[in-house]
Amino acid sequence: MIVVGAGIVGACVAYQLAHDGAAVTLLDRGPAPGAGVTGSSFAWIGDGIGGHWPGGAADLRPHILADYRRLAADVPAIPIRWCGSLSWPPASLPDERRDDRPDAPPNDRPDAPPNEQPDQRPNEQPDQRQDESDPGYHWVGAREIAALEPNLRDVPARAMHSPTDGTVDAAGMSAALVEAAERRGTRVHLETTATATTARTVTTDRGRLEADVVVLATGAALTEMSPAVLIRASAPPGLVRTIVSAPDFEVREGRPGELLFAAEAGQDPEAVVARFRAAWAGAEQVRVLSWAVGSRPMPPRGPIIGYAADGTYTAVMHSAVCLAPTAARLIAQELLTGNPAPELADCRHPHD
Ligand SMILES: Cc1cc2nc3c(=O)[nH]c(=O)nc-3n(C[C@H](O)[C@H](O)[C@H](O)COP(=O)(O)OP(=O)(O)OC[C@H]3O[C@@H](n4cnc5c(N)ncnc54)[C@H](O)[C@@H]3O)c2cc1C
Repeated sequence: MIVVGAGIVGACVAYQLAHDGAAVTLLDRGPAPGAGVTGSSFAWIGDGIGGHWPGGAADLRPHILADYRRLAADVPAIPIRWCGSLSWPPASLPDERRDDRPDAPPNDRPDAPPNEQPDQRPNEQPDQRQDESDPGYHWVGAREIAALEPNLRDVPARAMHSPTDGTVDAAGMSAALVEAAERRGTRVHLETTATATTARTVTTDRGRLEADVVVLATGAALTEMSPAVLIRASAPPGLVRTIVSAPDFEVREGRPGELLFAAEAGQDPEAVVARFRAAWAGAEQVRVLSWAVGSRPMPPRGPIIGYAADGTYTAVMHSAVCLAPTAARLIAQELLTGNPAPELADCRHPHD
């Protein structure tokens, strides 16, 4: 089988296929795995506090954390950190029904991954989404918030806490999976661009490849896209401990000494980081190091996974850092058994 694209989706699919016994060839036009939008991802992993999971994403969501834990156990080099998250809405909306706003934009903050309408997340009561035995997320008060984020200056009265959420270096994860797939026999061709595809062939700038199935995991090339900004800033290690989704910024530690901020395209990175400095004790020295705009693939009606009319197999979705391990498990299962995975029934192509 040929997988085109070594972002988080293609890397997960190639690894899973190889793991499950397929002969796989993986190619990407970039110099390394994760060089597309995956390399600019905030990469918040969660299963969705108050989230909006369009179309078939809703059927993948319940499996996200279990699939991540399985994959992380299989491939220990995946750079994952289970640090939990804290989210709270602006104090100016005390009725907590912000999602009722008729003008609520569908993607007005980059991507709280579990929440493509980030404003909704803190406004959902946990028991609207899951039973009380699920420890995944719950409201916490000021004292617990201050314990979780001791450098936060103005502690909100309450926030949603998801102790099971995590983050990953998404490009590092893609690279780790590609290496693991290579160890299982996958042939990897980087700096190789697919110029044409059919159900069984891929023409590249370096020659033609043939296989029984061609999986396209080329991200924004396959669907609508929505730009968002990832900002990297220098910071004292440990300044931010969880993933924080606050009204004025979304921040987490990337690696010790570096913070990552996610912002909507068009926001001024300096202004985002200035808002953080005002909100955080000990942040005086936090400075923007770099920023990048990433083109998020965003199929409007949810993930598109399955055979296209031309016989190629498509795998594209938003919040793919969250969804890719689950999607890849199901994709490999259906490609290798020939039996459609019921969990992917609402992801078929085309949607209309
Ligand atoms: C600022 C920001 C924050 C985000 N935060 C989150 C988050 O918190 N959680 C979350 O789940 N998601 C988040 N996302 C979205 C997430 O990053 C994307 O959903 C995901 O990275 C998409 O992965 P992909 O593999 O589909 O695409 P890509 O990473 O773009 O991979 C596609 C690959 O295909 C290759 N390719 C394309 N065309 C060809 C060709 N013709 N020949 C060969 N190779 C080709 C490209 O080089 C690329 O490597 C965020 C995105 C941004 C920008």
